[in-house]
Amino acid sequence: MKLYPELVENHAELSQWRRGIHAHPELGFEEIRTAEFVIDKLNEVGIEVHSGLGKTGVVGTLTKGNEGKIIGLRADMDALPMQELNNFDHKSVFDGKFHGCGHDGHTIMLLAAARHLSQHAEFNGTVNFIFQPAEEGKAGAYEMIKEGLFEKFSVAEVYSMHNHPGMKVGSFATRKGPMMAAIDRFDVTITGVGGHGALPQHCVDPIIIAAQVVQALQTIVSRSLDTIQPAVVSVTAIHAGDSHSVIPAKVKMSGAIRYLLPDVGVLIKRRMTEIIKSSAEAFGGVGELAFRDLGYPPLINDGACVEKAVRVAKKIVEDSNVSFDIEPIMGSEDFSFMLKEKPGCYICIGSGKANQRNFMPHHPEYDFNDDIIPLGASYWVKLVESELI
Ligand SMILES: [Zn+2]
Ligand SMILES: [Zn+2]
Repeated sequence: MKLYPELVENHAELSQWRRGIHAHPELGFEEIRTAEFVIDKLNEVGIEVHSGLGKTGVVGTLTKGNEGKIIGLRADMDALPMQELNNFDHKSVFDGKFHGCGHDGHTIMLLAAARHLSQHAEFNGTVNFIFQPAEEGKAGAYEMIKEGLFEKFSVAEVYSMHNHPGMKVGSFATRKGPMMAAIDRFDVTITGVGGHGALPQHCVDPIIIAAQVVQALQTIVSRSLDTIQPAVVSVTAIHAGDSHSVIPAKVKMSGAIRYLLPDVGVLIKRRMTEIIKSSAEAFGGVGELAFRDLGYPPLINDGACVEKAVRVAKKIVEDSNVSFDIEPIMGSEDFSFMLKEKPGCYICIGSGKANQRNFMPHHPEYDFNDDIIPLGASYWVKLVESELI
């Protein structure tokens, strides 16, 4: 691996920073302490700071050399609302809050790169270091964009990186086009006519309708979609009734759909509406479908930016350890909002330790692998030096 020596020399200090954030996790839009840490570190090396964008988001701006391109590098800062089960010294000091996705590490890798670029690197142009809040389900990226992120910081391209314990340290992986799925959360209400469980002829049983709807929704993927298009329709909650002898008047159901192409999402939503409405009508009831705001769009990488990112990764690790055609992932990621606005590339950085069990993100015993801090930061620095020439 070809790492920047200064980043390797500072590894212990950077790990210390990371563990400090790990021990003090903050949930989406509550990243006060984390944002202050980021602001302090950026200020220390003379990087101009803009804070409070998207509530707790921070942007650092560094310009060097002749006027050149402007790019954005993005890290996420938030933790998960879950209990950590680790027992090491830097475990979370807060019950029910845990850096279970490695955003503590993402923050530090970008901070390390910012400090290095400020102190040691030569380039021509401007880098905006985007530290966003609330990636986990609360669309912090969308919030920053809504508050003018790309008007205030007009980047030509935007890049991001996520640790991946399923890939070994020293590897990178990405793909052109759709890489991660959209998610839209839905709620269904089936309204019938309640009554005595012994006299169903006087009722419209919404539970019978709901049972039909759940089955029929599964035919969207198996019968309405192009068979090579990945998509998931899941009903994950059903609530109705509270007695053995009363037919309830309503059933409420919730769930989520996931897909890789926007057109597929449109088709799924249309078929859901038809199935829910007409199934309910066929039995004399009423079916209603509502999608919640702030679904995440599919994460779609720009082809040219993927090529740039792959070239950069190959300058740091072995060519054979950089994959540019991994299979798409049906999980979601709110960097997709930034990629809807600007061309860019999201890349996975391998963080799996050799010869030991590696817990995946969102597992209660997961921990970010500090070994990759100089590597991830080197990728950022090399990307800037290669792009801003
Ligand atoms: Zn996560
Ligand atoms: Zn994450």
